[in-house]
Amino acid sequence: MVDDASRCIKLYGRAGHREGYELREFLQRHVVLYEWIELDTDQDCLQRFGIADIGNVRFPVVEFPDGAQLFDPTVREVADKLGYIARPRLKEYDVSIYGAGPAGLSAAVYAASEGLSTVVIEKTAVGGQAGTSSMIENYMGFPEGITGAELADRAREQALKFGAEIILMSEGVKAEFRDGRIHAQLADGGVMTARSNVCATGVEYRKLGIKDEMRFLGKGLFYGAGASEAPLCQGETVYIVGGANSAGQAAMHMASYAEKVVMLVRGPSLTATMSQYLSDRVKRHSRIEVRFHAEVTALDGDVYLRKITIADRASGGISSVDASRLFVAIGGKPNTEWARETPILRDEAGYLITGSDLLVDGRNPEGWPLARQPFFLETSVPGSFAAGDVRQGSIKRVVTAAGEGAMAITFIHRFLSEDG
Ligand SMILES: Cc1cc2nc3c(=O)[nH]c(=O)nc-3n(C[C@H](O)[C@H](O)[C@H](O)COP(=O)(O)OP(=O)(O)OC[C@H]3O[C@@H](n4cnc5c(N)ncnc54)[C@H](O)[C@@H]3O)c2cc1C
Repeated sequence: MVDDASRCIKLYGRAGHREGYELREFLQRHVVLYEWIELDTDQDCLQRFGIADIGNVRFPVVEFPDGAQLFDPTVREVADKLGYIARPRLKEYDVSIYGAGPAGLSAAVYAASEGLSTVVIEKTAVGGQAGTSSMIENYMGFPEGITGAELADRAREQALKFGAEIILMSEGVKAEFRDGRIHAQLADGGVMTARSNVCATGVEYRKLGIKDEMRFLGKGLFYGAGASEAPLCQGETVYIVGGANSAGQAAMHMASYAEKVVMLVRGPSLTATMSQYLSDRVKRHSRIEVRFHAEVTALDGDVYLRKITIADRASGGISSVDASRLFVAIGGKPNTEWARETPILRDEAGYLITGSDLLVDGRNPEGWPLARQPFFLETSVPGSFAAGDVRQGSIKRVVTAAGEGAMAITFIHRFLSEDG
């Protein structure tokens, strides 16, 4: 991770504490070189920050290559210092894209390269779920695999090269469709106007739904594959909840660092939910133990997670084990809250319904204003498209999300040409 001292950011934390998770995750996902350094004496602090008492330092401390230091900064402050926070340059765009996962980034590359003025609004970091993956092995063209962060960073660079604008730390919270435009309200109070849009907001990790989950978030409990945390797990036993591909990848990655990885799987086997190649590797790995019928029912600790309670759904037995790191990789639910008060149709689970799935007995859905049928990937509002995991019936793969992002732009050209 660290191979160029002159570009490397230093992140300081206290030995034995687990602060800084959000910052590490952000830097890792943006492929920013960083080094995590633990301090434990007053002398260290005096030397590094000119503060003689370690108790008086607000950790984590971020030191940039130019020497600037930020004490206990937010992710936004670090992103700002890195020049990642931008303001939209135009008043109106041909296409606004919500979400910079594989679907949104792909849409941005095709839209911008085909001459459309393009803006991408992203709530957190580029890459979406894929950006959290430690190794994507089934994406065409990368026989050795590629980390999610690197794939996302390459796509980001490509989109920027073609002239797309990517606005990070910004979130679409509400949409209004009028005057043939989409006017999206952003969480910071701004409004984004465009002639068409692609919703590529994907899905958000599903939570365990148990007490104290938020209390331990980043303090022992993590969602997804925990790519940034793996190197910190040396010599530890870590627990992973889930039995699908994301959990399997997390287990394989963690096993390169941790002494032992325990996978807690609710069902009776891996085969129904995990790719064969991955489940074979997981089962063969000497440091991975898979426990079936296992469900985490309680979390316990002080500031940090210390113990978890595991229920055995087959025998009814309950056990409490020491656990300082628990990774939750159990899928997710679609990010479509913003569509709640719009004419955009969603299914019961919240996924956006598109194309021919909108037709009722072969007829256009109620309220659809045009004579033609909705295009493939078009929602129940003309010009508003959905791509990737957020779409009802999507395949939930990096390659299909990227493919849909590109296809949505083809239909946007058709929509814009009929729009005049
Ligand atoms: C750990 C892990 C490993 C995986 N490994 C593989 C693999 O090896 N191979 C494979 O093919 N697939 C893999 N997948 C699945 C794959 O990553 C997803 O199918 C893919 O990322 C979906 O892309 P997407 O662009 O549709 O959505 P997402 O990746 O979910 O991206 C959606 C983006 O939208 C943003 N967003 C959400 N709401 C808003 C809003 N209101 N405004 C602005 N932005 C918003 C989110 O922050 C996010 O960045 C993996 C998934 C996980 C979690």
